[in-house]
Amino acid sequence: MGEIHDLHCTKCGYGIKANTGIGMLYSPENIFKDKQFLLDLVDDTKIADQTMDLLTKGYEINEDYGHEIYTCPNDFYLFDKFYFQLNGSNEFEPQYPCPYCQTTLRRLTFAKGSLGATRLKFVKEPKKYWHCPKCGNDELNEMAFGNWD
Ligand SMILES: [Zn+2]
Ligand SMILES: [Zn+2]
Repeated sequence: MGEIHDLHCTKCGYGIKANTGIGMLYSPENIFKDKQFLLDLVDDTKIADQTMDLLTKGYEINEDYGHEIYTCPNDFYLFDKFYFQLNGSNEFEPQYPCPYCQTTLRRLTFAKGSLGATRLKFVKEPKKYWHCPKCGNDELNEMAFGNWD
């Protein structure tokens, strides 16, 4: 079961509603056997084709897959994208381009903010925090919280 996050900047209200995690039908067999399922998740034919091709070459799926919160490191807009990793002779993970500036999006993870607020930090750059693209503030409120399947 996945989580629903309704995140909004504490100052200006910019935000997104993001689903994270995985749904009930998201077994590796379902996702990676059928290209259409994968295509619905990644919404990018090139990524789906490349993934199917690597799987036929013996690449294996990392268990840690699911929807995650991504941001553009250039303009800091937020997105909800499907993350996974394949391991073989190389590592492969989907590269999603920012729809505004084409920079490759990066994954974010939750970090502590002040009381009642949250911050987001870059998974691969632990000292780097997200800030709001509209006002520069770096804290978010979570308006509602729930689960999806
Ligand atoms: Zn803001
Ligand atoms: Zn961008």
